[in-house]
Amino acid sequence: MDQAVPSTSTGLPIDENYILRRQNLLQELQSNYPDSDEDTCFPDNPQRKSSSEDNAQQLIPDPRLGNNRWCKCGHCLVMYTSEECVCCQEIPSVALEIPEDCACITYNQLFHTMCIDQRIADIHYLMLTNQPIAEDIRVYHRNLRRTAYRSFTSWIHGFLGIGVHIAIPSCAVAAVREAFPDPKEKYVGFIKVRDYCAMDMAFDL
Ligand SMILES: [Zn+2]
Ligand SMILES: [Zn+2]
Repeated sequence: MDQAVPSTSTGLPIDENYILRRQNLLQELQSNYPDSDEDTCFPDNPQRKSSSEDNAQQLIPDPRLGNNRWCKCGHCLVMYTSEECVCCQEIPSVALEIPEDCACITYNQLFHTMCIDQRIADIHYLMLTNQPIAEDIRVYHRNLRRTAYRSFTSWIHGFLGIGVHIAIPSCAVAAVREAFPDPKEKYVGFIKVRDYCAMDMAFDL
């Protein structure tokens, strides 16, 4: 009985010559198209992290939440979101406005004028919204807090591009909440106001 010679699907016999030719062809292809960092195929493919790396990131709690040990100015309060756990001394453009011999932005006279003087906040609110002052004091004070955050951001940073929000330091937020409190909230230890992030409130007028 004839020994059947192995062959490819196109009928070529798989002998030593075939294997040699195949190896040479593969080497030639690899030398012409090597794997490299400069490979431009799919340059923007996202690199998936291993799931253990993902989990590790999710499990690490923000060490700033639940305390104000990160405060350097002595006036920051415990905040509810990571974005708000920032001290005036940590934001360079804010730090520039801290008066000499003072530790906190809330000692700048302009801060009082721009952010917590009620008559000026009223005027800023009218200019920004062209809306009447609300009669409900909760709504009124909430609008003034928003106005104050917007004034703070404009004072410190000037024009920010559309959608660009920069954190407002906790000490400034605390001073604004103290100036325009929510009358229904009780203030025990830290100022408890059910506001969302101040830097976002600033642009929701
Ligand atoms: Zn601080
Ligand atoms: Zn401060």
